[in-house]
Amino acid sequence: MADTELMDKLVSLSKRRGYVFQSSEIYGGTGSVWDYGPLGVELKRNVKEAWWKAMVHMRDDIEGLDAAILMHPRVWEASGHVENFTDPLVECRNCHRRFRVDTLLSETGAADLEHTQCPSCGKTGEWTEPREFNLMFKTFMGPAEDTASVIYLRPETAQGIYVNFLNVQTSARQKIPFGIAQIGKAFRNEITPGNFTFRTREFEQMEMQYFVKPGSDGKFFEEWREARWKWHTDTIGLAADRLRYHPHEKLAHYASAAGDVEFFFGGTIGDEGWGEIEGIHNRTDFDLTRHQEYSGKKLQYVDAAANEKYVPYIIETSAGADRVTLAVLANAYREEEVEGEVRTVLAIKPSLAPLKAGVFPLVKKDGMPDRATQIHEDLRARGIPSFYDESGAIGRRYRRQDEAGTPFCITIDGETMENGTVTVRERDSMQQSRISQDEIVSYLRERL
Ligand code: ATP
Repeated sequence: MADTELMDKLVSLSKRRGYVFQSSEIYGGTGSVWDYGPLGVELKRNVKEAWWKAMVHMRDDIEGLDAAILMHPRVWEASGHVENFTDPLVECRNCHRRFRVDTLLSETGAADLEHTQCPSCGKTGEWTEPREFNLMFKTFMGPAEDTASVIYLRPETAQGIYVNFLNVQTSARQKIPFGIAQIGKAFRNEITPGNFTFRTREFEQMEMQYFVKPGSDGKFFEEWREARWKWHTDTIGLAADRLRYHPHEKLAHYASAAGDVEFFFGGTIGDEGWGEIEGIHNRTDFDLTRHQEYSGKKLQYVDAAANEKYVPYIIETSAGADRVTLAVLANAYREEEVEGEVRTVLAIKPSLAPLKAGVFPLVKKDGMPDRATQIHEDLRARGIPSFYDESGAIGRRYRRQDEAGTPFCITIDGETMENGTVTVRERDSMQQSRISQDEIVSYLRERL
């Protein structure tokens, strides 16, 4: 399958099966904003839960936080976003479409703007001079729409963590090194958004800030780089050969070391199909020092035992929930020929799949629908998301669940009514086995 085709196929499968819809579609859509449908919301929740479990619940040294999207406007002056969170923008003089210079050059492969063709109208070299454009969404707080009431939608969740550093540390009685984790919405007025949910204007981040003693930052940067890589391969199940680590040569104003975990999406995403899904940064003491300066409040860690005080260094791991979810879909998508027909499968890791089981009565008679309903309701009650389907030929029902990414299908047939056994069909291998109805729950739990 050509790379560019995959994204088109994912967009159409996502709509067909209820993973992702375009925002405000009946009005022609909103630029690069997407809505998650019934299956999409479950998949994204499972991704976020897997992150929360690994980063918060499984660790004594990391606390969770849910900070508000709206923050004091001075936060964004201190963080450097008002001054530095800009992208160089050019406009095509012919069609007036605007593009981010760096993405335009990397996506067209041109050496400079003079030789760059407009992706929209095809004119070459008709560009305005680049100018800096701030990516933060601005709005007003309260009834007055004047400069005194300007407020921003946060462009990253990290700052909510920094300003709460001492609140969390003292209330949770944490000692350095420790971290604060948060999942939440972020907003960026991206100039050239696109590529489905890869680059959107409203998205969710899963960020963790790890506070360490200056001098130990290099060691913790490496530790987190490894831990996050392992999460993407082992927990999320992304294929290792579709992942790479890309160290940054050009560092952001706050960082002393940084790198990205990139996934191969193909098509026009990122660098020849490789797009960032998570960034790992050594942010030094930049953020806390700046917040001290701008707020006039001390943000120091007091180590009573060692009788010392210092502003900690911060190692940040910043993943996009939407990009990881898109990577899960891209990683899972397969088309294979089965008995002369194309079978589309989303081979999502069972632990992340929105639905764990499809439950089907073979025919709509002889007590089979009742028995199937009973099994379906029992699974649901035990926290195993299940889908009951009695419509259409059994083969078609299997195919629908294959496309939805459901790892197991359970069929209730004549034999079930006689001896209490059911057929379990496995999505990826299509292999069927017969097990007792009483074993269904343990069979599924073992494999989820
Ligand atoms: P890019 O270079 O692709 O613009 P970035 O380096 O600006 O990304 P960070 O600021 O490091 O991204 O943000 C951390 C994570 O947030 C990214 O790895 C990505 O998963 C996610 N993210 C950032 N911008 C977007 C966006 N516009 N749409 C969806 N996810 C995003």
